[in-house]
Parts: sequence; C-alpha cells; structure tokens
Amino acid sequence: MPSYRAPVEDTLFLLNDVLGFHRYDNLPGFAEASPDVVEAVLTEGAKLADTVLAPVNRAGDLEGCTRGADGSVATPKGFKAAYDAYAQGGWMGLSVPEELGGQGLPHTLNTAMQEFVSGANLALGMYPGLTQGAIAALLVHGSEEQKQAYIPKMVEGTWTGTMNLTEPHCGTDLGLLKTKAVPNGDGSYSLTGTKIFISAGEHDLSENIVHLVIARIEGAPAGTKGISLFVVPKFLVNADGSLGARNGVTCGSLEHKMGIHGNSTCVMNYDGATGWLVGEANRGLNAMFVMMNEARLAVGVQGLGQSEVAYQNAVAYAKDRLQGRALTGAASPDKAADPIIVHPDVRRTLMGIRAFNEGARALVLWTALQSDIVHRSQDAKQRQAADDHMGLMTPVVKGVLTDRGFANAVEAQQMFGGHGYVEEWGMSQFVRDARIAMIYEGANGIQAMDLIGRKLPRDGGRAMMAFLGEVQTFIKDHDEAEAMKPFVQPLQAAVNDLQAATMWFMQNALTKPDNAGAGATDYMHLLGLTALGYMWARIAKVAQEKAGDARMEAKLVTGRFYMERILPETTLRLARIKTGADSTMALAAEAF
Ligand SMILES: Cc1cc2nc3c(=O)[nH]c(=O)nc-3n(C[C@H](O)[C@H](O)[C@H](O)COP(=O)(O)OP(=O)(O)OC[C@H]3O[C@@H](n4cnc5c(N)ncnc54)[C@H](O)[C@@H]3O)c2cc1C
Repeated sequence: MPSYRAPVEDTLFLLNDVLGFHRYDNLPGFAEASPDVVEAVLTEGAKLADTVLAPVNRAGDLEGCTRGADGSVATPKGFKAAYDAYAQGGWMGLSVPEELGGQGLPHTLNTAMQEFVSGANLALGMYPGLTQGAIAALLVHGSEEQKQAYIPKMVEGTWTGTMNLTEPHCGTDLGLLKTKAVPNGDGSYSLTGTKIFISAGEHDLSENIVHLVIARIEGAPAGTKGISLFVVPKFLVNADGSLGARNGVTCGSLEHKMGIHGNSTCVMNYDGATGWLVGEANRGLNAMFVMMNEARLAVGVQGLGQSEVAYQNAVAYAKDRLQGRALTGAASPDKAADPIIVHPDVRRTLMGIRAFNEGARALVLWTALQSDIVHRSQDAKQRQAADDHMGLMTPVVKGVLTDRGFANAVEAQQMFGGHGYVEEWGMSQFVRDARIAMIYEGANGIQAMDLIGRKLPRDGGRAMMAFLGEVQTFIKDHDEAEAMKPFVQPLQAAVNDLQAATMWFMQNALTKPDNAGAGATDYMHLLGLTALGYMWARIAKVAQEKAGDARMEAKLVTGRFYMERILPETTLRLARIKTGADSTMALAAEAF
C-alpha cells in the first residue's frame, strides 16, 4: 500500500527562508497570514491530505466512476466523505475574498495546498481544483449578480464547477468550436452542442454543478473571435438561491481512461440548456483564459505532486529491498544482501527526482507569489513585473513540471523492478495518473509554442529580460563567495545557453517559423532548467547561512547534484535548437 506525507517542512522553509513570504505583509491578506497562521494552515492541510485524501486514492483507482442509466455518476467509495472533509475544512475558499465567503488568504498558500492534494489523490483533487478555476473566472469576468449567485455556494463546496471547452473535432484549435447559443430574449441563451472529456462534468459530490461553457452565439464570426463564455448550472437557481428545475445538460457517457479513474471524464450533451453570458459576447476565450491560466499552474503542480509521492514510495522501497552488495563492500553484513539504496545507480535516480522536486516546489511557490502580487498589489509597476513573470513561467510550470513529473513517476517505478509493474504496489497508478497532466489544459507541445510564440516576444521580450536581469544580479552578488561558486558558475553557464538560444530564435525564427516550432519544446525545458537552477542557487545561499543543520546540509548536497548532473542539460537543449527545423521537416508527409 503506497503512502504519502505532504512536504510541509520544505514548503515552510521555501516560503519563510528562501522566498521571503513575509516581506509582502503590505498586501491584502498577507498580514493575516502571520508565520504562525501559515504553519497552522499548512500543517492542517497536510493532515487532511495524508490521513483523509491519500487513503482513498488506491480505492478510487480500482473502482473508478460509474454512470447510471439515468445519466447520474457515482464516484468511488470514500470520495464523498473525503470531499466533504475538504469542503468543510474551508479549503475551497482559502484565497477567495471574504465578502464572497472565502478566507482571503494568499493564493500562495492555496497553491501549496494544491500540491498536497495532488500528491495525495490527484483524481479527487480535480473536483475542487476545477471549482477553484471556475471561481477564479467568475471573480474576474462574472457580473455582480453572477458572483453572488454562484461563488459563495462553490466556496462552501455544496456546488462544484467545470470547464467545458473541448468538442469531438476541436481540442487545441478552439476556433473550430460548434456549440451554439441562441438568445432567448430574456437575457438568457439556449445552448446546444456536445462537449467531450469534461472533468467532473457529472458526479455525486455536490448538490449542483456550475458549468462554464464556451459556445458561439448565432451569427457570431467564425474562429476564435466569435466565442463567448456562458454559465450553465445543472439545476437552475431560483431568485432566493434555492435550486429550481433541472437544466438541459446531461452526461451522455463516461470515458474509460488510462488513469485518474476516480475523476469522472464526461461527454456532456447540451440540449437547449439555459445559460447566461459571462463577460462580453465574443470575448469568451479571453474570459476562459483566466480559468485556463489558473488551471495550467495547478496542472503543473499536479506533475510535482505525482513526482513527490512516487519519490517518497521509491525511497521507502529502496531502503527496504535487499539485493546485491554495495560496490564498496557489504553495508549490512548481518543481512543476506544490502538495501538497494546503497547502489550508485539507484542513488542517481532518487537524487534526480529529489533535486527536481525541491527546485520545482520553489519555482511553483515563487510563481504563486507573483500571482498574489498581480491580484493584490497597489503598485502598478510591481503588478506589471509580476504579471510578466506569470506570463513567462505559466507555460514552463505547466509543461516542464508535468513532463518531468511523469518521467519521474516512471523512474520511481523503476526502483521497484518488476514489483513496480504490478498494480498492488501502487507505482503503476502514479505513472498512469501523472500522464494526463502532460495532455490536458493544452498539450505540452502547445505550452512550448505559447512560450515561444506569445510569451517570449510580448512587449519586446520584457519578461525574459527581467528574468535574465534578476538571475544575473544574483550571480554578480554571489560569484566572489567561494562556497557559492559550485552554484553560481553552473547557473551562469545555463544563463549563457538560454541567452544564446533566445538570440538564435530572434535571428532564425522570424523568417522561418518552423525553426521556432521545432525548437519550442527544447526552449521550454531550457528555460525550466535555468529557472530551477536559479531556485537552487537561492536555496543554497540560505542553506549555507544555516550551516550545521542536517536538513540544510542535505539541501546543499541536493543542490550540488542539481547543478552538476541536471543543469548541464541546457547545453544539449541549445545544441538541438541550433540545428533548426531542417531535418525535422525535410521528409514529405507521405514518407512517414
Ligand atoms: C482525462 C481528460 C480530462 C480532460 N478534461 C477537460 C476538461 O475538463 N475540459 C475541457 O474542455 N477539456 C478537457 N480535456 C481535453 C483536453 O484539454 C484536450 O484533450 C487537449 O487540450 C488536447 O486536445 P485534443 O485531444 O483535441 O488534441 P489535438 O488538439 O487534436 O492535438 C493532438 C496533438 O497535436 C498537437 N498539436 C495540435 N495542434 C498543434 C499546433 N498548432 N502546433 C503543434 N502541435 C499541435 C498537440 O500538441 C497534440 O499532441 C480533457 C482530456 C482528458 C483526456
């Protein structure tokens, strides 16, 4: 039976010591999040993840969701009680404004909690995750009436949310969308069409489900410029807030999937369902992007969560499994063999995952802090800088953390030999569950294209210049200190690769766009590797100041491993980018 322990200590160390969370006490909600409160909140969240959500993860995988003849969907045994505990604990509204029923605490804390939830039970965590995304979209684009009607109920957890974009013929290319919205003449619309792959589209965890749906108003322009966003509740809501008639939206079937079995993935049929416009007509993608950006970061966190839980179980197994002897002589001569953790190749694997997880956690929390600044700061310049960071790092967090999250789950599974391949050890579930995060919320190839095509050139490359400037300043401030050299020197090499790749695209991609497309994924990883390198250099700086503490000594070793054995991959990525698109694109499609 796999186990999970939410990484509270590491999260607190990163927030308090590395990222200077409490420097932001001037922002609304931060003063309330005193060090004691932060510790209490995260400790409580970890307890929920470890003792309530994780124990039903495996049962959820084995049982999955079932659809009844009437279109209702039952979640696996234990999910409802675990979901209720989450909702009643006030977790849904942790960072939602107080006037709408939330606690108004920083989103950064919510993000930390998202990691705990994703590591404990990814499938279950998606129900509240989508609800939080829907809340975010309504907060920014909903009318006052819509906010009052839906958000408090979603914060309570008695209603949940969904995101309905995908249709059978359109996933990435939403401009092809066909779902139609016809005005009813009373301000509402009648929606007709089929949505597929809708997570949490139907289930038995909440009294009502608030679907956010993109559709094309009759007569609207073709393509993405004619897409509008609607709110379509499963049960219509009466003026007094009570539930009214069942709306014309039903679950037509459930998908049978590789993983996340405990999450219902639904075909949703809209048969003249009543919906209301959210935001402006034909600006729906804009509004949906709020939800998608929120969700992209949360999906990146899912990659980290799966990497962490897989790592924890691999470590436990590696300490326990006896096979072979250490190359340097028996480590446990009293036993028939040594635990496999003595073998350098096993160590290489475990260190690789560990070094990634701890660096990625720092990047996630740093980015979440920027999100709080964007939403809460009064200082326009500070807000703009934070927004630039979010734009640049959102595709990196989504794409890199989920690519590596899956790869790490596979590596952790490898530690179990054949026992990793059989279901009872639970490693197979981590691999299967982690896989989806690379696909939904925009497949990772699309994240890379978004980075290189949109985020990088935006405002004359301002976001990238700011990132490079910050890293260079850090290097300059610390390159004299002997103890910091093992960190800042490799970081400088990575920055050089990143600059060279950026320059190469500027010179070679504008006239030949395939060069950008062929190098986009490598560039996304090159930036991700460098960003994690910067995180590790900052961690090392703090760890050195706390010398003598065993946990900090371990940080320094892990950071050195990152610098020596992971970060040099930037050179390979740069070399690939510089070959351009020629060999990638030379074959005619018929030759495949
Ligand atoms: C379990 C599950 C849950 C999901 N949950 C939801 C949900 O809640 N709501 C929702 O709306 N959707 C959901 N989805 C849908 C998901 O977001 C889409 O599957 C995803 O965005 C990809 O779309 P697609 O499947 O149509 O693939 P396609 O768009 O057909 O893409 C196929 C491949 O081609 C590549 N590709 C496509 N266009 C380009 C391009 N221009 N440049 C480079 N490469 C390209 C893609 O990267 C991908 O690898 C879910 C899917 C699954 C499987």
